[in-house]
Amino acid sequence: MSTTARNRKPIAKAESSSNSSHSSDSDADSTNDPQINERLAKEIQKEFWFRLRQLPSKITRSVGPVALCLLYLWSVLIYTNRYGPLGYWSAFISRSTEYRRQFTDTPLARKLGLDSPALNPYSLWRGVVVISLSTSFTYISIAFLALRHELFHWKPEMLEEYLLRAKATFLGRVVPQSWLHTVFNIYESKHAKRTRDRIQNRDHRATDDHHELAQVLRTVLRNLLVSTLVVLVMWLALLQTGFDSHDIVKMPRSYVPPVQILTWHLIGDTFYYFPHCIAHTPRGGKGIHHKVLPHFLAEQLGGFLRNAHKKHHRGKANLAIAAWYCSVTEQILFNLFPTMLGPVVTQIIADKTGYANIWGTHIITLYIWLLAGTATSVLAHTGFRTSWNDPGKHDEHHEYAFGSNAVNFGTAGFWDTVLGTKGTKYITGAKEWRAQRERQAALRIASQRSGIPLTRAQELVVEQPMVDYEWIDTRVED
Ligand SMILES: [Zn+2]
Ligand SMILES: [Zn+2]
Repeated sequence: MSTTARNRKPIAKAESSSNSSHSSDSDADSTNDPQINERLAKEIQKEFWFRLRQLPSKITRSVGPVALCLLYLWSVLIYTNRYGPLGYWSAFISRSTEYRRQFTDTPLARKLGLDSPALNPYSLWRGVVVISLSTSFTYISIAFLALRHELFHWKPEMLEEYLLRAKATFLGRVVPQSWLHTVFNIYESKHAKRTRDRIQNRDHRATDDHHELAQVLRTVLRNLLVSTLVVLVMWLALLQTGFDSHDIVKMPRSYVPPVQILTWHLIGDTFYYFPHCIAHTPRGGKGIHHKVLPHFLAEQLGGFLRNAHKKHHRGKANLAIAAWYCSVTEQILFNLFPTMLGPVVTQIIADKTGYANIWGTHIITLYIWLLAGTATSVLAHTGFRTSWNDPGKHDEHHEYAFGSNAVNFGTAGFWDTVLGTKGTKYITGAKEWRAQRERQAALRIASQRSGIPLTRAQELVVEQPMVDYEWIDTRVED
């Protein structure tokens, strides 16, 4: 694909050129001076109401959409425990039981023996089927929602050719030309917005190559099936403990889920950080594993983890649907095991200390934890900043994955902070992005107030960068 930059003036140049034109033509058209909007926008950005309007998205981005959902669910739990059940949980259980009954009544399920009473003690419906279906649904729905950005990834000048061809067809001659231009202009502004929000200056190859896309989809589908098997293992492990898989309608105490989820998050960070950090140690380099293991074993472990992880880093750029584009070993070792270990560990501790009735893992907390983990994983790979999600941290990890400046190996950020592997580029990037976004919002209000239309450069704000394809990270192979 051509990487020709767009023939559009960069902002700085556009502003300076409008400055110079202003000084020479100020008498000619002083009322339409674009600098009036610039000055007004600066004032608007200081206004209380403008800052207040920016606050919700600022909070959502910094706290994270998943953490906000967890806080909301916690408030529902507090309300339920204090003022009586809202009925949502018992309704879910009875509805789910009804679905199970309908399913086990089908000829296929009877043939497979799924209606056998011998399966009842295992509660496989609520332990495996509900979890697998809901996590897969969460993964697929968020990934497809995030794909909407990719609809605008072709550069408009590439589409100009098609616009000209469309105009030449019979339909193109019948349809009013202004309609075609409106559609093209909408696409152009959507493309500019997409370019502004994209964190890395490159695209994921799967957006342009249907063979790569098919490979990504096949791998992700396989990993979703692998996840179902690992969920089964986790569930069978939980059934060996004092975990209550039958009498689950009663809600946990309000203070239990936050403590459990924080503990699971920390356990997840620990069991993700270390293998992940070792996987990123270059061949021949010295990593944290060399400090505790004999040289030969450290090399073997490093090689094994690096090989397992390199598929996920085949692309530097991120794409939500490719969040679980990785080897089976990685899917089990990096994505599933650290997430599923916490609920089993805390249940065992609760059993041993005799507090299982309070601190035992509740199935509702387990569901929410697994759904939150899946959603976090997909949202970390969208490759775009939006008003409610900023995946910059994991994006920075992908961009510098196997270089000496590789950072952000953890999920919770605990070990990254303690061991000094936390990146900072994404924080600077987020600040610049926010400043640009707020300036654009203020410019729009300024234009409404002054009645002066925005210039093309002010509308688009962002300079279109060169798209630099660097699909395969060659350092993965060394
Ligand atoms: Zn990695
Ligand atoms: Zn990743």
